[in-house]
Parts: sequence; structure tokens; C-alpha cells
Amino acid sequence: MPERNVVSFSALMTGYLHSGLASDALYMFKSMAFGHSSLRSNEYIFSIVLTACSDLEALCEGQQCHAYVVKSGLISHSYIRNTLLHMYSICSSVEDAIQVYKTLPDFDIFSFNSMIKAFSDDGYLDAAAEIMRSVMNEVDKWDQVTYVVVLGLSANLKDLRLGRQLHSQILRRGLENDVFGGSALVDMYGKCKAVLSARYAFFRIPNRNVVSWTALIAICTQNDCFEEALKLFLKMVSDGIQPNDFTFAVTLNSCAGLSTLTNGDALNAFAQKSGHKEYLNVGNALINMYSKCGSIEDAHKVFSMMLERDSVSWSSIITGYSHHGLGEEALGVFGSMLNEGMDPTYVTFVGVLSACGHLGLVHEGFNYLNSMSKWGISPGLEHHTCIIVILCRAGRLDEAEKHIRYTHIEWDIVAWRSLLNGCLVHRNFGLGKKVARHILQLDPNDVGTYILLSNIYAKESRWYGVVEVRKLMRERFIKKEPGVSWIQVRNETHVFASEDNQHPLIVEIRQKLADLMYRIKLIGYKPDIASVLHDVEDEQKEEYLWYHSEKLAVAFGFISAPHGATIHVIKNLRVCNDCHMALKLISTVTKRKMIVRDANRFHCFEKGVCSCRDYW
Ligand code: ZN
Ligand code: ZN
Repeated sequence: MPERNVVSFSALMTGYLHSGLASDALYMFKSMAFGHSSLRSNEYIFSIVLTACSDLEALCEGQQCHAYVVKSGLISHSYIRNTLLHMYSICSSVEDAIQVYKTLPDFDIFSFNSMIKAFSDDGYLDAAAEIMRSVMNEVDKWDQVTYVVVLGLSANLKDLRLGRQLHSQILRRGLENDVFGGSALVDMYGKCKAVLSARYAFFRIPNRNVVSWTALIAICTQNDCFEEALKLFLKMVSDGIQPNDFTFAVTLNSCAGLSTLTNGDALNAFAQKSGHKEYLNVGNALINMYSKCGSIEDAHKVFSMMLERDSVSWSSIITGYSHHGLGEEALGVFGSMLNEGMDPTYVTFVGVLSACGHLGLVHEGFNYLNSMSKWGISPGLEHHTCIIVILCRAGRLDEAEKHIRYTHIEWDIVAWRSLLNGCLVHRNFGLGKKVARHILQLDPNDVGTYILLSNIYAKESRWYGVVEVRKLMRERFIKKEPGVSWIQVRNETHVFASEDNQHPLIVEIRQKLADLMYRIKLIGYKPDIASVLHDVEDEQKEEYLWYHSEKLAVAFGFISAPHGATIHVIKNLRVCNDCHMALKLISTVTKRKMIVRDANRFHCFEKGVCSCRDYW
């Protein structure tokens, strides 16, 4: 063109911008500003330049353009101000944005909404909250979008009080029937862990869809309301809403939390029928569910049939094998993972190191720990705790103690308790007492430590010590959680407490238990009366042992589960020494496989041995 004006420049710059060539648009602006100084930029040119800066996240150029805008007097254009705000939000410059915001003569709802949203999403929560509080007196100007945005902010802040305040405003202003506002309320209550309020808000949303249902099920799962999650899934399906892959994944996680294999199996079949089993997230959730429900074979079956696998799939199966005490399998799968060129993650190494713990591989454990940096992962608390377990298992208790004392990370009670457990297993009375004293200084209410300490005394037959620990617990109002075991047979869950008489089949159960105990006595079972905390006569102790909850649950499994089927039992505390011994022998005399998940891990009893190799 022999001659160019502002219109020709802005036309070409718009063209560049729309073709994704933001840097060319900026270049054009520079050549116009410096090469054609007679041409004056107008609001269109500035808005194109600012949009280009947003696209490029070019803060420096954006600030220069801001200065031009001020010099040209165009800052009074509300459109330009909003573009500036947007640019500063994108470039995460809180101070600049607040400065622009403060030059607004009137409350401008559009720029307010976009700024709060951008800051909230980018994690500038305090700045967003400050801006929001500054306009609390103009709530009557807020629109539905504003409420969605500020609810999102209170969700990110996990500020339940603010959230409830906003909810009551929404009700007062009659805006509660909005789908987006309703979903934002559900999300806010979920992030603030107020499950009941989330549920309440959910059922007031008109036109609930699969996304909103799934969000609510996820909230229940994240807050350990697993049964509620399963109920909601069924309600959703009966309302005629088809679940999607996310729905299946979160509901399967609830089955994993409940350890209900029957429900998990049913969901697996449903996912297969509806064609969702092929999805990566569903496959990963199935692996997790099967391994947490005690069926590592099924977990492996899912893993091996997956069309594609990511690091989550690999880590889940490795961790699953590890939890089941199958250390060799876990390390074998880890080897294949590396062979396939998949990068291990933080979680993968937790699985790998706990596998080394099961196998007692001290040297290899340290090698794996040191190799983590190759993948840019620095070892965390979980990895170092695994090292403690590895050393304790190998009986190297002093080294374990040194590892805790000289590794500079923030240790928690779990690590110390692993060491205390090592002291119990290896009968190191002196160190055990010292460690227990240390833990109780950190947390005088740690029930697990009192129990372990009392067991350490009992193992040495130092009954005065047992009595002392119990006295201490009484004085400090610390109660031992009662042992409870549960077993699911034909979709029904049966719960047993120790010395339980409540079950309708209790006579049959006790008969079956007596029969099993008689048979294992013939092959050498001797009751481990040290497992009893009661300071009573030996004969009575044996009776206490007989009616431990896990023994009752197993006996019930024998009389009610299908013939030959694996018996799955879950216990809230650790399995006691005596039950562990008895269950190993029961697996011999009955040729039945029994899987007991206790507070710490899985015990798979088969042919007289346990997968934990007697270390738990
Ligand atoms: Zn027991
Ligand atoms: Zn075991």
C-alpha cells in the first residue's frame, strides 16, 4: 500500500491475532508506534495489543502498553480497563491488577467477576478475598456469575463460614434455582468437607446431570462416606442418568474404601456392559478396588487386559502386590515398567520400597532410595518410613533408630511406631521402652503406642509393666479401640466384636470354632497367652483368645461362605499374634485360603504360611 492508516494497521493486527500469531501483532504495533509516529493509537489498537500480551503472557510488554494507554488518556474507557485487568490476571500480576481495579469509577460487575475468577484459579486467594470484601456492600449488584465465582473462591479458601454466608444471600435473592450456582454450592460444601450440606444443595439443583451427580459421589468418596456414595450411584442410575467413566472411577474408589468385593464386582460387570471398562481411569480404579478388597489376582487380571496403561496403573499394581506381601511380584512389575520406558513416580517408589520391606532387602532398598533422584524425585516421609521398616525387619534396630535421628525430614508418629513394632517383634525391650517414651512425649494420646508397649512387656512376661501401662491409660482417659472384624457373605456384612454373643448363628459359630481349634491343637497349636492383656489365670486367657473377633468372623466364613471359596475378613486393629498363628494352622487343616486385612496390611493365609512372613 502506498499509504497506511490506523485502520489498515488494526485490520492486519486483528488478522494476526485471530491466526494465533500474537507476536506478529505486537511487532506490527511496534513498527506503527516507532515507524509512523504521526499515527495515533486508538482504543481498538490498544485492546488488540493487550489481548496479544495476554495470549503471550508477556507481562513486560503489557505494562509498557499500560503506560501508553495512560499517556493517551484512553484509560477512562471501561473496555480498555477490562482488557488490562484480564491481561494482568493472565500474567498473574496481582498488584498491577488491583491498581487498575482501583481506577474504576463505578462498580463494574464484568471486570469484578473475571478478576476474582482469575486470581482464585491462579491461587492468589488472599488478594481475591481482599477485593471481594471491598465490594461486600454492593452485593445487590452481584449477578449469578458473581456467585459462581465467589463460591469457587470460598471453596479454594476452604472457608465454610464465608460459603454459608453466600448461600444465605443466594436464598434471600432467590437465585438458588440456577444450575451453575447450585453446582458451585455443592462444590464449595464438598471442598469444605460439609457432606450433608453438599447433599442438601445438590437435591435442590434443577436438571441434575451426570456431571453434578458424579461431583457429589466424588465428594462422598473423598470424605469417607463410602456407603452414601454407593447409594447415590444406585439412585442416579434409577433416575435414568447414565454413569460416565468418572462416575465409575469414583464409585469404585468407594468400594475400595469399604472393601466390599461384591459391590466392586457388580460395578466391574456394569462398566464392562456399558463399554466404560476400556477407559484408563476406570481400569486404574478397578486395580485399586480389587487390591484393596483383597483380590490381587483380579487386580492383576484387570492390569494385564488394559489397552493402555499410565504410571498410575503401574504404581497401583506394584502397591497392590506390596500390600499383599508379594514383594517379588512387585519388584518384577517394577522391572517391566522401566523396560517399557515408563517413568516411575513418587507413589511408585513407595510401593517398591515397601516391597523391599516385605522381602527384607536392605541393600536393594537403599539402592532404590538413592536411584530416585535419577527421575527427579526426592525421597519423602513415606520412603524413609519404608527404610525404617526394612531395617527393622532385618533386625537392624539400632540402624533404624539412627536413620530416624540423622535424616533431616519431618518425621511423624507412624515412623516411630514402625520402630516400636520392630522392637516388639525382635524383643528389644530396652530400645522399645525408650522409643515408646519418646512417642508418648510427642503425642500422649497415641493409643497404638500404649498397646505396643503393653505387648512388649507382656512378651517378656513382665506383668507389672502391663499393669502400669493400663494404669497410665486409665489416668489419661485413653481407651483401647475395641477389636472388630467384619466379613461380607452374599451381599450382607456381618460384624463381630470380641467375645461377641449377638450373632443369630453364634451357637453354630462357636461350635465351628471349637472344632477348628481342636483340629489345629492336634498339629501343634499352643495358645499364645502373651497376646492377652488381661492379668488373669492362663486357662481363662486361652478362653479370651478363642473368641477374638477375627476368629469368630473366620468361623462364620466357614459355615456360611460357598464351599472352597476364599474367606475375606477385615479387622480394624492389627491381627494379634495368637490369631495369626491359629489362622496359619487353620489354612493347613482345612486347605482353605483366608485373607485378613488388618489396620496395616493384608495377611493371606494359605497352606500354613502367611504372606506377611510373620512380620506385621
Ligand atoms: Zn486375636
Ligand atoms: Zn500375616
